[in-house]
Amino acid sequence: MLKERFLTYVKIHTTSCEDSSASPSSQRQFDLAQVLKEELLEMGLEDVKVSDQCIVTASLPGNGKETFGLIAHMDTAPDYSGENVQPQIIENYDGSAIDLKGAGISMDPKDFPDLKDLVGKTLITTDGTTLLGADDKAGVAEIMEVIQYFVDHPDLDRPNLKVAFTPDEEVGRGTENFDVSSFACDYALTVDGGSLGEFSTENFNAASAKVTINGLNIHPGSAKDQMINALDIACDYHQSLPVAQRPQHTEGHEGFIHLHTMEGTVEEASLNYIIRDFFPKSFQEKKDLMTKLASFMEEKYQTKIQVDITDSYYNMSDKLSHVSFLKEAVIQAMKDNGVKPALLPIRGGTDGAVLSYKGLPCPNLFTGGHHFHGRFECIALEDMEAAVEVLISLIKALGKRKTA
Ligand SMILES: [Zn+2]
Repeated sequence: MLKERFLTYVKIHTTSCEDSSASPSSQRQFDLAQVLKEELLEMGLEDVKVSDQCIVTASLPGNGKETFGLIAHMDTAPDYSGENVQPQIIENYDGSAIDLKGAGISMDPKDFPDLKDLVGKTLITTDGTTLLGADDKAGVAEIMEVIQYFVDHPDLDRPNLKVAFTPDEEVGRGTENFDVSSFACDYALTVDGGSLGEFSTENFNAASAKVTINGLNIHPGSAKDQMINALDIACDYHQSLPVAQRPQHTEGHEGFIHLHTMEGTVEEASLNYIIRDFFPKSFQEKKDLMTKLASFMEEKYQTKIQVDITDSYYNMSDKLSHVSFLKEAVIQAMKDNGVKPALLPIRGGTDGAVLSYKGLPCPNLFTGGHHFHGRFECIALEDMEAAVEVLISLIKALGKRKTA
């Protein structure tokens, strides 16, 4: 059933749209929302709704005092086509290169060494012409299976369960219309992580910085001692930032300062950066460095340099300290199901991070997927089943917590 659900969902085109300011960013996301609504109604859930902004919510009352939420996103990344997805299923994967037949390309373990972890499993890949959409329809399918399990086993102790399926995560707008107070959960999980065992309770603090440099344009033939070339200063500014803090030299818990676009003329130049760091102190130090360097360059070149820094999101770990039992219970549920926990700091943001700051503590659990956002995306059915089993064990444990 899990496999059928997943294959049904990936075939529904739900790519979100970066250029749209509408909510949802693409109407097609309603196509999956309606399917999910019907299935939830059929299972007998309460308060099944699709909001005008395409958020699907439903509840399954339990016998505990607490309410636990499960969240996944319905859209797929606009980076690659999500239309007419034709999954290939490879039983008992033998570890060799996989032909993606629709595109005449192959997915080779030489390029994707993580494929060796999937040997012997039932692999679901693309045909090479689209992404797969395991991100995050695997999460959607897994949550639906978990809900089905508890519908079928109504007598088990468990918290009240709520589900939410959201649009537009991939264009950074997944929580825009998410009403944490009406969702009314004590804590939740996003099921939107990668490979088997991944569990994340921390993510980057994030900011963007725009550095605007004023120059002075003079005819180059008579520029001596007068011209101030903003482009020269822009180059100097960027080269003066620590090279080791560029993203291509960082990993794990290391943060970075990343120049992503620059433009300008002699008269004015601007540099656009993103700043990422896990720790509040070094996050602030990175921002301070950028403003101090600007002051230094103003002095050096006798011109005006403005730095505008805007925070984007924060590390959820600060907001999870009062739900440490949830973290422990997730790790225990993985161990009970033979899954090795891999606690990964998310080198990005998640919807759960934003929700944690809105008052809903929300770490992120693996879906089982690999190589998200492109034609090499794949997932093993057994890893999806493991996610379902981990969630079922977790919910049973959370049920015991309050009824013990
Ligand atoms: Zn995702």
